[in-house]
Amino acid sequence: MTVGVVGAGITGLALTHYLRERDVNVVTFDARDAAGGVIQSQRRDGHVVELGPQRMRATPGIRELAAAAGVESDIVTASEGSLFVYSRGRLREAPTDVRPFLRTDLLSWPEKLRFLAEPLTQAAQPQETVAEVFSRKFGQAAYERFVGPLYGGLYASDPSEMPAKFALEGLMRREQEAGSLLSAFRQRVGSGEKSPAASFPDGLQTLPEALADTYADSVHLAEPVETVESTPDGYTLDTTTDEYAVDDVVVTTPANAAAELLDNVADGTDALEGLTYNPLVLVYLETDGLPEGLGYQVAYDEDLRTLGVSFNGAMFDRDELCTAFLGGMHDPEILAESDERLGEIATTEFERATGQNATVVDVVRRDRWFPAYDQTWWGLEDVQTPEGVHLATNYTARMGIPSRVREARQLAEELSATTA
Ligand SMILES: Cc1cc2nc3c(=O)[nH]c(=O)nc-3n(C[C@H](O)[C@H](O)[C@H](O)COP(=O)(O)OP(=O)(O)OC[C@H]3O[C@@H](n4cnc5c(N)ncnc54)[C@H](O)[C@@H]3O)c2cc1C
Repeated sequence: MTVGVVGAGITGLALTHYLRERDVNVVTFDARDAAGGVIQSQRRDGHVVELGPQRMRATPGIRELAAAAGVESDIVTASEGSLFVYSRGRLREAPTDVRPFLRTDLLSWPEKLRFLAEPLTQAAQPQETVAEVFSRKFGQAAYERFVGPLYGGLYASDPSEMPAKFALEGLMRREQEAGSLLSAFRQRVGSGEKSPAASFPDGLQTLPEALADTYADSVHLAEPVETVESTPDGYTLDTTTDEYAVDDVVVTTPANAAAELLDNVADGTDALEGLTYNPLVLVYLETDGLPEGLGYQVAYDEDLRTLGVSFNGAMFDRDELCTAFLGGMHDPEILAESDERLGEIATTEFERATGQNATVVDVVRRDRWFPAYDQTWWGLEDVQTPEGVHLATNYTARMGIPSRVREARQLAEELSATTA
């Protein structure tokens, strides 16, 4: 059996590893000449800058994958730190556990009691938006000041545009099991599922690059797949240089590329084409000094255009570099501003939030960077792939790097079981 994998981001490379580990033939392609997909670590003025994810959780799955690629001992973890929210003129600790919840001044005591009444509310409904679920269950103040910004920040999206059915699928399942969202959350934190934030000295791309090197005989970089065709024996992948016969095809590409690739073999590819992706601006700032913590998000009732700031350099003891995020679904127009203006907005607002000076190291903009998980996701219900064609993506399943690795592993188990 041979599996053809389209995309050498973390999903495609993890899948390559798990298939090879199970002695399944695999051939993996990427359009770009570098491995990692959206995981892109670069150097600017001697600093490591991340254009995609800023950090990952060092879960057992991630450690195992890094060990297979020979880079586990290079993993650097961040010491536990708090997340903050900029609200009513200053940074305030975001409560992610009981003690910070009791001491935070983000909410008044009546607002805290309203929050704690969540187990008495009706379960989240698939047709509701994430904003409706969170404000109904936790109260409007908690939604606007930290639940919305922390959650929406994961997707650079607007929770009032995100159907719970897709965006909260995992959370709703855990809510049913645990009886309430708060208990589900507490069980998760208590179960140690919260592995530390991690990276590598040269950034996150170290992991996909090491995987691509380890499986260099399976991984073809700078060789885009142009079409997927069905044959009596399976499928053919036509790349820019060759034609490959495979039994199964796994597509891990962004949705618009998947729509094009699968047009001849799958139904409902228009819906894939129509999925919204959020734009993003990343402004890298060098600072005189950072406040404590891992970074901050901006509350929805503030007038800042910055969505949030990640204190990357300090988190991994590298330097005083941090990444400010602007744009997203709330503010796509900001991408039209000049680099100079974007730098000015990011530094002025950083100084206002932290009281520290900052200088701009670089500005990067991306038109389509995050799956938005908005109302266009209903279209996914029309997408049907034939037997032997699989979508393993961050828009059909969860986004985070550990989740991508978990899905790759499960799929490898299923595929190898069919050859046994
Ligand atoms: C800005 C940002 C911040 C994030 N922050 C975090 C975070 O802090 N922590 C976390 O865990 N996760 C984070 N995520 C999510 C996580 O990074 C992604 O979900 C994950 O890396 C996606 O990996 P993937 O392999 O599924 O897809 P991708 O990385 O998109 O890889 C798909 C690959 O397909 C290739 N491709 C496209 N067309 C073709 C073709 N025709 N032929 C061959 N190849 C093709 C592309 O070149 C690409 O390499 C973030 C994502 C972004 C964008």
